[in-house]
Amino acid sequence: MSKFNPNNVTPTTYSVDCFLCGALITDSKNTIVYVNNYFESHLLWKPDELVGQNINKILTKSSRIFFQSYLIPTVLHEKKSEEMQLIIFNGQGRKTPMTINAQINEEGLVFWSLFNATKQDQLYDELIKTREKLEEQAEKLKSLAATDELTGLLNRREMNYRSGLLLDQSLRSKQTIALLVIDIDDFKIINDTFGHLEGDRVLKELGQVLKNFGRQTDLISRYGGEEFLIMLPDTDKKGAVLFCNRLHTLIATVLVNDNPVTVSIGLTISNNAKSFLDLFTQADNAVYEAKARGKNRTQLYGDKGHL
Ligand code: GH3
Ligand code: MG
Ligand code: MG
Repeated sequence: MSKFNPNNVTPTTYSVDCFLCGALITDSKNTIVYVNNYFESHLLWKPDELVGQNINKILTKSSRIFFQSYLIPTVLHEKKSEEMQLIIFNGQGRKTPMTINAQINEEGLVFWSLFNATKQDQLYDELIKTREKLEEQAEKLKSLAATDELTGLLNRREMNYRSGLLLDQSLRSKQTIALLVIDIDDFKIINDTFGHLEGDRVLKELGQVLKNFGRQTDLISRYGGEEFLIMLPDTDKKGAVLFCNRLHTLIATVLVNDNPVTVSIGLTISNNAKSFLDLFTQADNAVYEAKARGKNRTQLYGDKGHL
């Protein structure tokens, strides 16, 4: 086989029609003066439908704007333009994405080479879709990591984190904050008598009651097995006591073998708590006291009588 010699390549043996890309020439008025065979073989235009026409004929509306406002000025100024994306119409009106290079000669003729970019566009679309899917999954994972599987409430870790933030915020704005430790009464008996599954059902239903009752800004969590923790921002003693009383009534709508479920609540109010742990310890001590005083009640931390 003889060596390839570019000097032997003559227009009769090889021409611009042999390349798998569109070649198009426009004059200074953007009139098409030449198209190669690619426009017929791949883009389904007949040469006489294009030659003598303004290049706008093959450009979509947005491509026309881009062509006039960016492509032509770039070619005039830089003498060339590379790897621009345009959408053109084929001869049957189908939109086709193309990558375009262009250069201008001294006579003001612009030589355009157009490469089909359909696959590149598909790849890009797939990349975008994959990224969206990954973002969705990350969002789901984030929410899974923050919530308790059984009740859908915040889990202990997330509660610790968000309570800290809320506490800081309330300290800055000098608002009072209420913290409730809610512990189901005699839950072990429910489990032992009616089984673990029935126990789970009670936890779920109670979780739903808490979720429906709370405001958007309240932090509501399942903090341990049958223990729930609620933080109420911007809530004083009067508001918190009212909240607890309503909670007792609502929770009584959850039944086990026709008997209402009851809870003991430890409540503490603060307008200058140093830390979440301080507040939690107070509410936890209060719930212990509520149990000692006979259960099914709310005990305010530091209060001698019960509410
Ligand atoms: P008290 O009124 O003093 O709070 O008594 P109690 O029986 O509620 O408290 P105790 O701490 O003795 O028992 C809590 C029970 O909660 C024991 C444990 O098996 C049960 N428990 C913890 N987590 C779950 C759970 O996810 N599902 C079910 N079904 N039971 C659980
Ligand atoms: Mg308990
Ligand atoms: Mg209990």
